[in-house]
Amino acid sequence: FSPMGADIALIGLAVMGQNLILNMNDHGFVVCAYNRTVSKVHDFLRNEAKSTKVIGAESLEDMVSKLKSPRRVILLVKAGQAVDDFIDKLVPLLQPGDIIIDGGNSEYRDTTRRCQSLKAKGLLFVGSGVSGGEEGARHGPSLMPGGHKEAWPHIKDIFQSIAAKVGTGESCCDWVGDEGAGHFVKMVHNGIEYGDMHPISLPSLLCDLTQALFPRCSICRLIKEPVFDRWNKTELDSFLIEITANILKYRDTDGTHLLPKIRDSAGQKGTGKWTAISALEYGIPVTLIGEAVFARCLSSLKDERVLASKSLKGPQGAKFTGDKDQFLEDIRKALYASKIISYAQGFMLLRQAAKEFGWSLNYGAIALMWRGGCIIRSVFLGKIKEAFDRDSELQNLLLDGFFTNAVQDCQASWRRVVSTGVELGIPMPSFTTALSFYDGYRHAMLPANLLQAQRDYFGAHTYELLSNPGHFIHTNWTGHG
Ligand code: NAP
Repeated sequence: FSPMGADIALIGLAVMGQNLILNMNDHGFVVCAYNRTVSKVHDFLRNEAKSTKVIGAESLEDMVSKLKSPRRVILLVKAGQAVDDFIDKLVPLLQPGDIIIDGGNSEYRDTTRRCQSLKAKGLLFVGSGVSGGEEGARHGPSLMPGGHKEAWPHIKDIFQSIAAKVGTGESCCDWVGDEGAGHFVKMVHNGIEYGDMHPISLPSLLCDLTQALFPRCSICRLIKEPVFDRWNKTELDSFLIEITANILKYRDTDGTHLLPKIRDSAGQKGTGKWTAISALEYGIPVTLIGEAVFARCLSSLKDERVLASKSLKGPQGAKFTGDKDQFLEDIRKALYASKIISYAQGFMLLRQAAKEFGWSLNYGAIALMWRGGCIIRSVFLGKIKEAFDRDSELQNLLLDGFFTNAVQDCQASWRRVVSTGVELGIPMPSFTTALSFYDGYRHAMLPANLLQAQRDYFGAHTYELLSNPGHFIHTNWTGHG
């Protein structure tokens, strides 16, 4: 242990904290570990951190006394009250210019509030999104730090060393922006994770379709197909497609596939919901993530669905008559197009948040932060980075030439999949909502003029004429005759 002191302290020795400490240790940083239940410090030093440079602390005072100045303390504890409790205990022990970093899944407004209150006390605060789960924390997460920018030069080296690397060694970590910007970006990342996962949940769709195609084809025979392995060698190359391929192949101890035995009721921890709530709050049509959240809600109504399945009938006698291989390719393209829409919507929400809060967000850097280390990592994010490199002010991903062409190339397939699914009565909310968004976004004129007239009719809410925007007028719609 250097007489100069430890480089950084980390509080919270659950799975994320332990792994992040070992990652920092691997990169040559001396970390001081602390946990509310102090016995976990001893256990950690005896076991996982044995033969490392990690040191432990018996109390917060002990921890602070072992740190170099400016002191850097990372919190990786349960989001919410636990973070405030630790901050309150740390404040009297720290000096002006010391840095507290919250790496948990905190709500971005909490981070903004903590930034404001700590600034008044002379301390620097950073709220950092950490993605990639325990594996990422151990070997290279995606890190999304935001808050007091004065802290960045003091933590940049540690953060960029331990983060995942892509391409020619570029780090999946950069400064995001002021206040809760880091946690906002992490929240949208989690929302996009929902939006990526739901359309990929195609096995049931494939099974249903193929059963309609080939009534005697068993579900298991279809699941054996290495469709996702093939797709992972295309534009869809991503962590989520890769694990889906592995899940589809996975066999239970009795030799049969495990997936069909898993109860079809999805859980959620809330960050997808937060993204959808923010989208509503800031008026941005992030429809695909919203649908993905609602699809999980619908899936969780398992008992009701079982009951309904006994009496609610779908289309009778509908049959698919197309070519199976062509149709699989159509599904792949529908998936790719829907994914483009989902990311376009996610970045629209980031743009709006930047406007609302006065954050200056670097969208290309955000795409790079998500390019590796995290759950949504994919080759595709490299393309998004390139789009923002071409135009840092790009208004919408769909307006970048690469993505305009990509959607155009997928369009016919996407429409065939949606119309076939609707005809056969197969739920595909991600594909349909993404297509509706695309069709709405590309229409210069929408029927909202009638809505305005209705609102003015019953509530005198006024409307603008196309020929005179910005000038609101009212009509007495029942005044004639
Ligand atoms: P966790 O289960 O969320 O939290 C456990 C840690 O929080 C323990 O150190 C625990 O201390 C401490 N803690 C809980 N309640 C406390 C309280 N009231 N006061 C003080 N300390 C309290 O741990 P985790 O899964 O490692 O996650 C840590 C953070 O990272 C969370 O915010 C989580 O959302 C976020 N995160 C997790 C993942 C993941 O894959 N798990 C990924 C990204 C981000 P004791 O040991 O004393 O109980």
